[in-house]
Amino acid sequence: MTIALEKKALEIHQELLRTFGEQAPWSRLDPVSELVSTILSQNTNDQLRDQAYNSLRQRFPDWALVRDAAPEEVISAIRIAGLAQQKGPHIQEALRRISDERGELSLEFLRGMSIPEAKAWLTGIKGVGPKTAAIILLFSLDMPAFPVDTHIHRVTRRLGLIPARASREKAHELLESLLPPQTYCSFHLNVIRLGREVCQARRPRCEICRLRALCDFAAQDQQAS
Ligand code: SF4
Repeated sequence: MTIALEKKALEIHQELLRTFGEQAPWSRLDPVSELVSTILSQNTNDQLRDQAYNSLRQRFPDWALVRDAAPEEVISAIRIAGLAQQKGPHIQEALRRISDERGELSLEFLRGMSIPEAKAWLTGIKGVGPKTAAIILLFSLDMPAFPVDTHIHRVTRRLGLIPARASREKAHELLESLLPPQTYCSFHLNVIRLGREVCQARRPRCEICRLRALCDFAAQDQQAS
């Protein structure tokens, strides 16, 4: 990773702070609750994820009850989030794995691991990919992992922070090594906001983007026109 690229990443971070401000973590769920919530969030929006999460919590006041419930009851409680036939078993399997391996329903032990070890442990659970693992580590355990969603993957490739052909999985480690850990939370949330509001998938609105002077895609676009 070149120093020039690290400098560019910091400049982008600073510009995003000027545009959207410093962000506090959106969630202070404990790690097990965050794990369940992020499994529910796959392929759906935040509103439906929250409705499914609240429905699950209302029906089962603690996670041990979810773990031991009949699969159909869990599926029925989370149906609104979609893909309930997959997500229900993944949630129950994850809860069983934590209990079986640790003797309790807690992920606090991850704090004693290195980031690669903690990621490897979490991604060993079916239904938990690199993004889910990094979200749990960053937002629930305050550990320096950088989650990459579809917006961050698209925007950071356009900006030229990661190679155009870098996979989403690879983007996690590339961006982690590019940015200082204390920037992860704000950078993550601000790039998502930029991706939703300005650097949209179908048509990036470069003409109003504050990152235009720092962006490879905008520079190429200008050369071509
Ligand atoms: S200048 Fe255009 S391509 Fe670059 S980040 Fe902004 S909107 Fe996206």
